[in-house]
Amino acid sequence: MPIRMRILTVYHSAAPGRGFARARGTDNDIYVHIISRLMSTSLTFLGTGGGRYATIYQTRSTGGMILDSNGKRMHIDPGPGALTNMSRIGMDPARTDAILISHCHPDHYSDAEVLTEGMCKGGVVKRGELIGSVSVMEGYEGLGPRLTPYHFNMVGKHATARPGDIMDVCGIRTEMTMSLHSDRTAVGFKFNTDDGIISYVCDTNYRDDVASEYINSRVIILPITRPTKARIRCHLCTEDAVKFAEMIHPDMIIFTHMGVRMIQDCPEKEAAYVEGRTGIRTIAADDLMKVMICDTIDITMTVPLSSRGAV
Ligand SMILES: [Zn+2]
Repeated sequence: MPIRMRILTVYHSAAPGRGFARARGTDNDIYVHIISRLMSTSLTFLGTGGGRYATIYQTRSTGGMILDSNGKRMHIDPGPGALTNMSRIGMDPARTDAILISHCHPDHYSDAEVLTEGMCKGGVVKRGELIGSVSVMEGYEGLGPRLTPYHFNMVGKHATARPGDIMDVCGIRTEMTMSLHSDRTAVGFKFNTDDGIISYVCDTNYRDDVASEYINSRVIILPITRPTKARIRCHLCTEDAVKFAEMIHPDMIIFTHMGVRMIQDCPEKEAAYVEGRTGIRTIAADDLMKVMICDTIDITMTVPLSSRGAV
């Protein structure tokens, strides 16, 4: 599958079905190209920080990511900054169709309660899907629960995710994958979209059988908390991304959940190291980056509403 890298300026419309875009320059072909991409599978990164200190100091936002596919919107791991960044770019929480929470650490769940009320249009319309690890939904070993019957009664559907489960999430076959994290109930997600398998790896130690869960993925989102030679337990570092690339051979690897040291060490340099070693296209996501996945994979930056007059 070809990967086309082209930096464009993309505008979100908050209204369903009314997305529009404007590219720099006057190339009509580019304009048509963007419109078609708005209809495809896409990822919008509301936050690319992760780990304790990047979260406390908001070195980068920690709002998780949006997966738009099949006309539905799934929000994965809405940590601190999720709602703020949705507001900044005009994404309406009432358009969210599902919330998925990989585990019970605050950089992954803290905005989930309010987002659930948003998904249910202020809590008055029973709709949407709420999916989370055992710790998030039921509580486990002193962690959680973070969501309660108050939220479960509000949504259209709720489910506890365990490794090995396969669920229909917004009409997309979604596999729950294994993780070796300090929250021992943590799960990753493998979305079988019409544009290929998009996988989100949860915080984990590296092990071959963990990585092998993601075989056949077209795009893999990896939580690379630490750079090379700076491994910490229960999280991935740049060397682990090399192992994922060599085992899975995806079209693209995307780094997110970056800790302070990773951010300070230049994530783009770390991504280039993986790409240089493996030949697999590897990028470090940035806050408000959008990745559009169709026959090609295009990268754009979403422009905050407050900056649009200046473009
Ligand atoms: Zn964690």
